[in-house]
Amino acid sequence: MRYISTRGGINPITFKDAVMMGLASDGGLLLPQSYPAITGEQLESWRGLTYPELAFEVISRYVDDIPAADLKSLINRSYATFKHPDVTPLVKHNGVYILELFHGVTLAFKDVALQFLGNLFEYILAERNQVLNIIGATSGDTGSAAIHGVRGKKGISIFILHPHGKTSAVQAMQMTSVTDANVHNIALRGTFDDCQDIVKELFGDLEFKEKYSLGSVNSINWARVLAQVVYYFYAWLRVTDEIDVPVNFSVPTGNFGDIFAGYVAKRMGLPIDKLLLATNENNILTRFINASDYSLGAVVSTVSPSMDIQIASNFERYLFHLFAENPDRVKEAFVELKGHGRISCSAEEMALVRKDFCSVSVNQTDTLQEIRDFYAQTGYLLDPHTAVGVKAALDQLPPESARVCLATAHPAKFSETVEQSLGFQVPVPEPVQELYGKPTRCEIMDPDIAKVREFLVAHIG
Ligand SMILES: *Cc1c(COP(=O)(O)O)cnc(C)c1O
Repeated sequence: MRYISTRGGINPITFKDAVMMGLASDGGLLLPQSYPAITGEQLESWRGLTYPELAFEVISRYVDDIPAADLKSLINRSYATFKHPDVTPLVKHNGVYILELFHGVTLAFKDVALQFLGNLFEYILAERNQVLNIIGATSGDTGSAAIHGVRGKKGISIFILHPHGKTSAVQAMQMTSVTDANVHNIALRGTFDDCQDIVKELFGDLEFKEKYSLGSVNSINWARVLAQVVYYFYAWLRVTDEIDVPVNFSVPTGNFGDIFAGYVAKRMGLPIDKLLLATNENNILTRFINASDYSLGAVVSTVSPSMDIQIASNFERYLFHLFAENPDRVKEAFVELKGHGRISCSAEEMALVRKDFCSVSVNQTDTLQEIRDFYAQTGYLLDPHTAVGVKAALDQLPPESARVCLATAHPAKFSETVEQSLGFQVPVPEPVQELYGKPTRCEIMDPDIAKVREFLVAHIG
């Protein structure tokens, strides 16, 4: 399997090179040249597999430059860190299925991808005798999952910038309580945008980037999408163990990474009926699917902050397929976006979009109400991101189908909002209790690029 760019500017590369490249060097995103087809017979033969065994079956079809035994070991180690024996268990409440993706170390679905990516990085760097210094800005979820993905790993250091006092308390503790020598937390007296601007500027200094082997872990890495494809197969198999009805997935969406993994599963032949793209007030993708309106608005802060995004970076991967794998059409679309703040599609293209996707935007009032209603009816707690997807599924998907809602975070990770909705304190799970009283390490500084740069240079191995 070789990988190409959505902008058409690179020669096909191997899986390992695609992992190390992250963003394609021509500014596009990397994709496999084709999607391996899975037959109905193969699917049936996967019913008895454990999650890591299934992960190996799916992932190995995209990887031909890592020996099978090594890939198995990377996968097994990645999912051994999950607290539930099924890794991503599927439960049923109130007529919908909940796919619990939050049993990893940081209680959000990003662990599914970043545990695997951390192990992959370590493996490839050791083989190539290279080092990597990961720099990233976070508003909370990605940073903590990335830190836990690479803590203690050989050849890697990680520097994560977060806005001081502006993440949730649990998110901050999940980051700063990791005191491994290769982990560096920097809290800036500023906003998330200040953090992101500084990271962008550091990456823009190509000489500095080369000299210090800087890399990133943002959601554009193909290996992250690939790891997420697995749980669509897993959920489909668990639903159809029991019943034979059309299966739909509802996905709370920000950067389009999670739902793109569902699209990949569908392309491989997994019989998914519809992918329901659920958004909060930041609803550009809903406007696109329902009204062909892909025009930029301003980012609105909501109770589901990990979905507060306007430009979804992984959407470019989908556009490449929508535009019949024509990189020139992709480039044109981004010229239009830059010049006019929008992307236009033909009626034929929109018909294709609506074959695979439907969408709904759920506002904050309805999200908080859904947390209350769902708890009253079932005794089950939804985090605000999951609640967006559940509300969307109940409103939009046929009740006679299997409605699988991706639970992207544990309610305790956003307990402030859940408590505000319910009016009582939610139980604190063990992984959160353990955080209290742990020693922490974090460098607090002003949002000054010279200071950040100085800190990096002093701490890079
Ligand atoms: C990152 C995140 C999302 C959005 O996922 P994308 O892949 O960016 O679409 C949704 N919910 C939670 C809790 C997240 O951390």
